[in-house]
Amino acid sequence: MIKITLPDGSVKEFEKGTTPMEVAKSISEGLARNVISAKFNSTIVETVTSLETDGSLVLYTWNDKEGKTAFWHSTSHIVAQAIEELYPGVKLTIGPAIDNGFYYDVELPTGSISDKDFPSIEKKALEIARGKHDYKMRDVSKADALTFYKNQGNEYKVELIENLEDGTITFCDHDSFTDLCRGGHIPNTGIVKAIKILSVAGAYWRGNENNTQLTRIYGISFPKQKELTEYLELLEEAKKRDHRKLGKELELFTFSQKVGQGLPLWLPKGAALRERLEQFLKKAQKKAGYEMVVTPHIGQKELYVTSGHYEKYGADSFQPIRTPKEDEEFLLKPMNCPHHCEIYNAKPFSYKELPKRFAEFGTVYRYEQSGELHGLTRVRGFTQDDAHIFCTPEQLDEEFKEVIDLSLYVLGSLGFEDFTAQVSVRDLDTPEKYIGSVENWEKAEQAIINAAKEKGLNYVIESGEAAFYGPKLDFMVKDALGRQWQLGTIQVDYNLPERFDLTYKGSDNELHRPVMIHRAPFGSMERFIALLIEHTGGNFPLWLTPEQAIILPVSEKHEKYAEKVLKSLENNEIRALIDSRNETIGKKIREAEMSKVPFMLIVGENDEVANTISVRRHGGEDLGAIDVTMFTDLVNKEIKSTLKTFKE
Ligand SMILES: [Zn+2]
Ligand SMILES: [Zn+2]
Repeated sequence: MIKITLPDGSVKEFEKGTTPMEVAKSISEGLARNVISAKFNSTIVETVTSLETDGSLVLYTWNDKEGKTAFWHSTSHIVAQAIEELYPGVKLTIGPAIDNGFYYDVELPTGSISDKDFPSIEKKALEIARGKHDYKMRDVSKADALTFYKNQGNEYKVELIENLEDGTITFCDHDSFTDLCRGGHIPNTGIVKAIKILSVAGAYWRGNENNTQLTRIYGISFPKQKELTEYLELLEEAKKRDHRKLGKELELFTFSQKVGQGLPLWLPKGAALRERLEQFLKKAQKKAGYEMVVTPHIGQKELYVTSGHYEKYGADSFQPIRTPKEDEEFLLKPMNCPHHCEIYNAKPFSYKELPKRFAEFGTVYRYEQSGELHGLTRVRGFTQDDAHIFCTPEQLDEEFKEVIDLSLYVLGSLGFEDFTAQVSVRDLDTPEKYIGSVENWEKAEQAIINAAKEKGLNYVIESGEAAFYGPKLDFMVKDALGRQWQLGTIQVDYNLPERFDLTYKGSDNELHRPVMIHRAPFGSMERFIALLIEHTGGNFPLWLTPEQAIILPVSEKHEKYAEKVLKSLENNEIRALIDSRNETIGKKIREAEMSKVPFMLIVGENDEVANTISVRRHGGEDLGAIDVTMFTDLVNKEIKSTLKTFKE
């Protein structure tokens, strides 16, 4: 018999060789019907893998991330089979699951695949799926595996196998199809009820542009047709909200090939919006005891060698800039932290002066391959709302809570309500991977967990996800379309204080190492604004939006009055403009709707006589004719309801 520990802590005895599916059946038939994947002692296994030792078992359904991964990876096998049947001579390479679906990279014998070919691939794949073929893993010797693919003339799989150790190689069979695979499949192909090929793209073998360019086929699949329909609707909506499209329409930012790829240019409206976000955070930070600092965009190579960033970013990033005479090497700043460490080092501190909280909207530069660049979410230069807190180990607890408060304030003010926290801690089985004392790690991890608990966060603990230099907490934010974004990392760091020899004088008059916290509630201004655009569909919170109101004179006659209205709005700090073009009022309203200005203020004969404005909300709601003071009150009340003062 073997002892199986389930996630709720219960331990059950089973015959040696029992499978995860049999364990599921012993719990309930309902669970067994839904189980599609399993993890045994931290390793993903098949639902039909024989369990031979004591251990802990987690069963996954479609509702789990791991379940989806197995589902989508298994579908990639089906799609590969379909492609092999439709394009004889195709060479298969790799087909992993990704965040939303899967892809398969193939080398086509001739020609290409375009969207016109998608329906036939989907049809073929569904035909195969309906056959309810079991996924069967088997061990193969390295020699046999090589022979199998050499006979097919598939040099890609041969290369993959050559890098594997004999005795560790497995194939997965279903129907008449065989693939080199490590495992992690659903029980059978019949569970896949809906398959959609989403797109094709070029992809270099092993991501190296010196290698052959392959065809990457992206797809997604679901256990129900209805879920696919809903997903496609979501994709449509996401297209409408794409920040690259809206950013252009709302005149927020642009890119110029002349300036360079991945280097966003902020247009006046975007720059003003960004400025408002910065001011908003600066105000809260000031209240929270942060001090602003300013550091240059470049730094001596030595600085980043000391910090360890050169090792991490050096070879794969922008190469050093050299001074003409002395041939000194400078690097574009990939991170602000080293600079802030040197600011801390500028003078000695006693424990009484800590914590020090240095904040900077610091622009950093990191090389990204051109194929990886994406609007504002993947760029080569971006500004972090960065800050570093230097505190004593005893202060960590309190500081962490303060940073959580600030992050929650930021999320709340911008309309993000659906989020969870992920606490990343050590893997206790591999202590050698982490620097710093065990005592400090325990203290820090406990501090984070306590803070998350005390602040009432909905949190999960991920063991083994911590960086080598310290544990962290990430806010995982869901946007209006249900997509998850990682925002607002709070990272504890024992490494940089060591590398930069940071100290403070303790109450014992001895020198001690401070602990460092890195934090950025927005992450980067670029990525955050992209998220904000897609979350709100360009309908920003009233306090942040570029123009809060647009005045629409019915005819030229009312322009003077419109200007008077604008003056009084400006005096009340309401951002407004006049559409004085010689167009019909109908057209002006339609275009104002398109530009997503929250309020349209229509001024005509009656308004001028009564000294009112006719207010219409974006979206069509008519608020009637009111005077400017009433309108100002309305705007201010609405702003106050979303934008509270930090720690009021
Ligand atoms: Zn597989
Ligand atoms: Zn940092």
